Amino acid sequence: MRTTAVRDGDGYRLTGHKVFSSAGPFADFAIVVARMAGTEEESYSAFLVDLDSPGCRVTDGATPMSGEHIESDIVLDDCRVPAANLLGEEGKGLRIALGRVTVNRLLHCPSAIGAARRALHLTRDRALTRTVNGKPLLALQAIQHKLADMAADLYAARSMTYAALAALDRGEDVRTEAFMCKLFVAESAFRLLDEAVQIHGKDGLTQGHEIEYLFRKMRMFRVLTGTSEIQRNGIAKGLATLA
Ligand SMILES: Cc1cc2nc3c(=O)[nH]c(=O)nc-3n(C[C@H](O)[C@H](O)[C@H](O)COP(=O)(O)OP(=O)(O)OC[C@H]3O[C@@H](n4cnc5c(N)ncnc54)[C@H](O)[C@@H]3O)c2cc1C
Repeated sequence: MRTTAVRDGDGYRLTGHKVFSSAGPFADFAIVVARMAGTEEESYSAFLVDLDSPGCRVTDGATPMSGEHIESDIVLDDCRVPAANLLGEEGKGLRIALGRVTVNRLLHCPSAIGAARRALHLTRDRALTRTVNGKPLLALQAIQHKLADMAADLYAARSMTYAALAALDRGEDVRTEAFMCKLFVAESAFRLLDEAVQIHGKDGLTQGHEIEYLFRKMRMFRVLTGTSEIQRNGIAKGLATLA
């Protein structure tokens, strides 16, 4: 994080550029984590920044491969933020940001599970209705096995997400479980969509087909809200405390 915050009287001045800020086109404010300038040790603080503040610009930014454009770049150029907009204590911003990430990660999983379920249903229907050599695709054991693996992946992804969310509701610390859910849900949804494309044949490769869109969307989920590699790093750190 290269965005910096400099103390300025009873406030701060922020300078930096954040790409891919979700909900940027319609958000009123952003939570910005910035490095405190002039401190020897790395120290980060979190701020609520009104996006119509002088010195703050919200620009279009790049379009991701899903084709949906709900992100913006947020450009801060000596943007003044009053002290009242400091979130928590100065220097504790990273803890605030990372604390929020566990819940955020878990809340993204149901969207991916929904997309995977939709893909499984479309693929099952396709295998029932598409005939080759006078028989439905579903009569082929090779296709049955693919669908069986897809269904098992989906069931596992959904079960572990429900279990982690229930534990979160009980007030338990689910940091490691959230890493596991994000990793497994993203990887299994991508596997499932890859097979869905395969079973759909040329239609799965055709722009504008729902399966083609879901494939691109699930490909992104292996990077968004923390890449699969970062989830594995987190799980490895949590191994010592696993029951
Ligand atoms: C559509 C979209 C929306 C987004 N919305 C937001 C948002 O609202 N807020 C926000 O803050 N960010 C957002 N992001 C950013 C997103 O979280 C990052 O793109 C993602 O975390 C990966 O970071 P990076 O792109 O800098 O990749 P890099 O960090 O450059 O990683 C590149 C590769 O190196 C690997 N890698 C990096 N570090 C390690 C490591 N320590 N160990 C092992 N492997 C490693 C990664 O796993 C990856 O495979 C969004 C991105 C997109 C595309």
